[in-house]
Amino acid sequence: MAVIEEAAAVSGGALASASADFDVIVIGSGPGGYIAAIRAAQLGKTVACIEEWRDDAGKPKLGGTCLNVGCIPSKALLASSEHFEQAVHGFAEHGIQVKEVALDLPQMIRRKAAIVDKITGGVEFLFRKNKVTWIKGHGKFTDRGTDGVIRVEVLEDNSAKTYRARSVIIATGSRARHLPGIPVDNKIVSDNVGALSFDTVPKRLAIIGAGVIGLELGSVWRRLGAEVTLLEALPTFLGALDETVAKEAERIFEKQGLNIHLAVTIGKIDMSAQGVSIAYKDKEGVDQKLEADRLIVSIGRVPNTHNLGLDAVGLSTDTRGFIPVDDQCRTSVPGIYAIGDVVRGPMLAHKAEDEGVMAAEMIDGQKPAIDYNRIPWVIYTEPEIAWVGKSEAQLKAEGCEIQTGQFPMKVNGRALGVGRPEGFIKMIADAKTDEILGVHIISANASELIAEAVVALEFGAASEDIGMISHPHPSLSEVMRESALAVRKRALNM
Ligand SMILES: Cc1cc2nc3c(=O)[nH]c(=O)nc-3n(C[C@H](O)[C@H](O)[C@H](O)COP(=O)(O)OP(=O)(O)OC[C@H]3O[C@@H](n4cnc5c(N)ncnc54)[C@H](O)[C@@H]3O)c2cc1C
Repeated sequence: MAVIEEAAAVSGGALASASADFDVIVIGSGPGGYIAAIRAAQLGKTVACIEEWRDDAGKPKLGGTCLNVGCIPSKALLASSEHFEQAVHGFAEHGIQVKEVALDLPQMIRRKAAIVDKITGGVEFLFRKNKVTWIKGHGKFTDRGTDGVIRVEVLEDNSAKTYRARSVIIATGSRARHLPGIPVDNKIVSDNVGALSFDTVPKRLAIIGAGVIGLELGSVWRRLGAEVTLLEALPTFLGALDETVAKEAERIFEKQGLNIHLAVTIGKIDMSAQGVSIAYKDKEGVDQKLEADRLIVSIGRVPNTHNLGLDAVGLSTDTRGFIPVDDQCRTSVPGIYAIGDVVRGPMLAHKAEDEGVMAAEMIDGQKPAIDYNRIPWVIYTEPEIAWVGKSEAQLKAEGCEIQTGQFPMKVNGRALGVGRPEGFIKMIADAKTDEILGVHIISANASELIAEAVVALEFGAASEDIGMISHPHPSLSEVMRESALAVRKRALNM
C-alpha cells in the first residue's frame, strides 16, 4: 500500500503505469472548477469537467453559482439600480434635470441575463481553446482502485457513464441555506436565485440575514423603490469587519433607508399568495411582527456534497458539511483535491479560483501556496466595503503593537468631483516595523482600491512605502497614500 501511495504522489494520484480516460477530472465548473480545469490543461494534462447546471430553459451551463446566480448577475443589478437611483435622486445635484424617470424592470433583468449568457459562453470558449472536455451531468465517485485510478460516474437523462481519472478535483460549491419548514418558491420566498429575477419591485421586502448577500440584494431592491427591512440574528452588524468600518456602514445604510434590526429571534413565518408575515423577538425580547410582500432568505450557504459518492472513495464531510482538506487542498485520499465553497475558508469566487490554480499545480508536482490572510473581501454596496489583512480588534487580541492611519474621502477632490464623498480608508501597521497588517476601506470603488493594499501586503510593504509612492491626482487612490502617511501622523491634506 505504501508503495502505491508513494507512486501515486509522484504521478498526481495514480500509478504511472495505470490507464485512465483523463489525467484530471474536475467536478463542478464554478470559478474554482473551471479555473482548475484550464490551469491543469495549460500544464499539459488531459482534463474533463463535469457540470450538471441547467438554466431555466433547460440549457446546460458552465460557470456555477458565481456566473449564473451569484457575483456576476448581482453586480449587474447593483449597477443598474445604482443608475436608476442616481437618475431619480443624484443627477439634480450635477445640474441635470430629468423630468420623468421610469423603471423598465424587464429590460434590467434582460440585461443581467445577457451578461450571464455572455460570460458563461466565455467559459465554454475557454474550454474549447484549452481542450477541456465538458461532460454534462451529475458526477459521483464510484471507487478508487488499488492502482490509484479514480472512477467517476456521470448521470444524465437516466443514462450513466463511468470515466477514469488519475486525479479528481471536487469543486461542487455551495447552495443557499434555507429556513427549516419555509419552502423557497422564488416567488414570495426567495433565496439568491429568485431575488435576482423579481418580476416586480415589491413594496415591502423583508430579508432574513444582514450579511453580504442580504445587504447587496437589499440595496438593489431599495434603490428600485422597495421598503427594505433586514432581520439579523447576530447582535453585531457585519461582525467580521473592522469595527470602525462596520459602524460607518451601519450609519450610512440606515440613512439610505435600509431598516436593519440586529439580535432578533425569528419566530413563526406565515406565507400566503399575497405575502409573508414574520413574527420575531427584537433585541429587547419584545414580540414584533413584520408584514412584507416578499421575503429573501440569506442566512448563509451550505456546501454541495449531496449524492457525490464520497464514501465510495473513503471520504466524508466534517460536522458542518465541508470536505476536510489541508493547506494545499489535498483531501485525505491521494489524488483527490477539493476547492472553493465546498471546503473551509471564505466563500469567495477569487478564493475558489486561487485554490483551483493551486490544486492543478499540486497535481503537476509543483509546490504552490496560498496566504489566506491576503485574500481581499468586498461588499458591493454603495459605498463599497473592502478589506484585506486583519482588523484592529484581531491584532490587539493577538497582542500586536499597532499604529493606525485613517483618512476621509470627503476631503479628496476626486471623491467630491464624482459626488461620492462618503467613507474613509484605514491602514493598520506594525508599530515597530511599520509593516502593513490590514487595510479597511469604505468608499466608492473600494473593490478597485483594495487591490493596491493586497499588493502591499503580499510584498510586505511598510506604510511608509505607500506614503512615498506617487499616486495619480486627482484620484480616490490618493486617500490610500494619505491613510498610509496618517499612520505616522504625516497626512498632508488634513
Ligand atoms: C448572490 C451572490 C453574490 C455573490 N457575490 C460574490 C462576489 O461579488 N464576489 C465573490 O468573490 N463571491 C461572491 N459570491 C460567492 C461566490 O459565488 C462563490 O464563492 C463561488 O461561486 C464559489 O465557487 P465554487 O467554484 O466553489 O462553486 P460554485 O460557483 O457554487 O460552482 C459549483 C458548481 O458545481 C456544480 N456541481 C455541484 N455538484 C455537482 C455534481 N455532483 N456533479 C456535477 N456538477 C456539480 C454546480 O452545478 C455548480 O455549477 C456570491 C454568491 C452569491 C450567492
